[in-house]
Amino acid sequence: MEERVRTGRCVVALDGPSGSGKSTVSRRLAIALGARYLDTGAMYRAITWAVLRSGIDLADPTSVAKVAGETDLRIGTDPEGYGVTADGTGVEAEIRGPEVTGAVSAVAAVPAVRALLVARQREMIATAGRIVVEGRDIGSVVAPDADLKVYLTASDSARAARRSAEDATDVAATAADLARRDRLDSTRMADPLAQSPGAVVLDTTELGVDEVVTRLRELLTERGVA
Ligand code: C5P
Repeated sequence: MEERVRTGRCVVALDGPSGSGKSTVSRRLAIALGARYLDTGAMYRAITWAVLRSGIDLADPTSVAKVAGETDLRIGTDPEGYGVTADGTGVEAEIRGPEVTGAVSAVAAVPAVRALLVARQREMIATAGRIVVEGRDIGSVVAPDADLKVYLTASDSARAARRSAEDATDVAATAADLARRDRLDSTRMADPLAQSPGAVVLDTTELGVDEVVTRLRELLTERGVA
């Protein structure tokens, strides 16, 4: 820990289901800490975009892994705005669309895809020094030695309401999609969404973004890392 204070290294792992507030909170926390920010979901989404574009069968893990391995994926770590490109094409808008959202959990369940992206994520964390990383398996698999591990959650209805407000979609359809993705993400064999041991669980149903960010900063201060 002393080494970390001296070098300024600080890794925050934020996991949780869709709509738990992870992205907004992670970006805001990174800005407050003067840290980098890594959206690992955007990496799985960009690979999914490349898989869909290739036209291969999503149910064929060998072909999915091959496309993933051949895709030149680049992602920035600036919390104020990071770019995501796949094979030189900017895909920021496309990866939020219904096709990618509908297919991403299947692609993310392929063990070889996870191995590839987890290795990339670990490299980026190691070089960043100070970074807030959000995903599903950050505290459990990608960065189990993070300075602070948080599992954000919120009631199903709060999550659906937030997501549908962001995407301007119907609440009932969004709730069904979240339930489908939660089920796939938490029951897959490889690195399922789960609360990692040692993670602080924060229920954000009744909390605003500022309150969550303040609480996380208090937890970091208590640990002596920020
Ligand atoms: O966070 P976001 O909703 O953009 O993530 C999209 C999907 O990517 C998730 O539903 C999950 O299937 C996958 N994912 C993952 N592991 C991560 C981040 C995202 O499996 N660390």
